[in-house]
Amino acid sequence: MRVQERFLRYISIDTTSDEACADCPSSKNQWVLARELEQEMKELGLSDVRVDEHCYVYGFIPANAENAPAIGLIAHMDTSDAVPGGPMHARILRYEGGDVVLNKEKGIVMKAADYPSLADKIDKDLIVTDGTTLLGGDDKAGVAEIMTFCEYVLTHPEYRHGKICVGFTPDEEIGRGADLFDVAGFGADFAYTLDGGEISEMEYENFNAASARVTVHGFSIHPGSAKDKMRNAIHLAMEFDAMLPASERPEHTEGYEGFYHLNDFTGEVQRAELRYIIRDHDKQKFEQRKERIQKIAAYLNEKYGENTFELTLRDSYFNMKEKVQQKPEVVERAMNAIRACGLTPACVPIRGGTDGATLSYKGLVCPNLGTGSYNHHGVFEYACVQEMETMVEIVKKIVEAK
Ligand SMILES: [Zn+2]
Repeated sequence: MRVQERFLRYISIDTTSDEACADCPSSKNQWVLARELEQEMKELGLSDVRVDEHCYVYGFIPANAENAPAIGLIAHMDTSDAVPGGPMHARILRYEGGDVVLNKEKGIVMKAADYPSLADKIDKDLIVTDGTTLLGGDDKAGVAEIMTFCEYVLTHPEYRHGKICVGFTPDEEIGRGADLFDVAGFGADFAYTLDGGEISEMEYENFNAASARVTVHGFSIHPGSAKDKMRNAIHLAMEFDAMLPASERPEHTEGYEGFYHLNDFTGEVQRAELRYIIRDHDKQKFEQRKERIQKIAAYLNEKYGENTFELTLRDSYFNMKEKVQQKPEVVERAMNAIRACGLTPACVPIRGGTDGATLSYKGLVCPNLGTGSYNHHGVFEYACVQEMETMVEIVKKIVEAK
């Protein structure tokens, strides 16, 4: 089966994950896709296919070459809740350049000027939506490519490879995709997530990430008799925030620059709460950022009385670069494969995190590869058929025994 046929089948299932749900998986339809993949993997002839109690799908292809590494391939089944995940009205079109009218009736147009990735897609086939839902290329393009690769391997016994380990995860979009991943059972020497955009790009540098919650305890009293008594938690919270450098906010940073981001603020006189995320590629600078927040809380507690500012700091994930650098062959394999498919590989730092980062710290080094799908998390999401096909070729080159 061609990669786009699989892709169209998978995207017809709305697998939006739900942050508000504490269960794993966070939405029922992820089970539907998981069961479908399980069935298909069994039909293709993968071994030890199973869906565990949290909807993680695993399957394997035994090695037919000696001394080749066991390589993992991972993609996520859920989709972002940023825009509706269905009902899906996808279609394939031949891109001839310029703007793409997605929905005449509603006047929804994907403008070439807004999406530079379209520039090199002329004469290629694009799968688009009707502009009312996302497409789900993130990450069903990755799922479809891995499945198509498996089909190739199992129908071409002359293709030499080590053990191939396949994993499909739930709830990546809500940051939980790697939490319950069975690294030991997976048994790969290293792995790749297929969860990016450009197929020539590889990602293995991501942010170190932490979150900080600052609870400010004030004292409320009738404003008429407040003199020397009231402590307005809102003002205290604003004072806290003002002590963080304004130039180190997301809107003023790029590339490798880190930031403090105030992403939630609630407050009354009696009590206020600030929520920050802290990000930095550099481990040392990351630690300094957390120290700075601690120092501000300590200083203000000295000024206003102990326990006025209550700080909870939590690490979220770390830069996988440190782990990947210990296994340089993981990057080399992918770079060589991309080159062998006629593309110029590029390594791009991610201003975010990936499941691969968490997995790398669980002992499974796992950079991220592209999928040929673009504009993720929005109604202008699209996938390029020819690039999805090339991605399958890249995976073949990566896994092939040398
Ligand atoms: Zn994704």
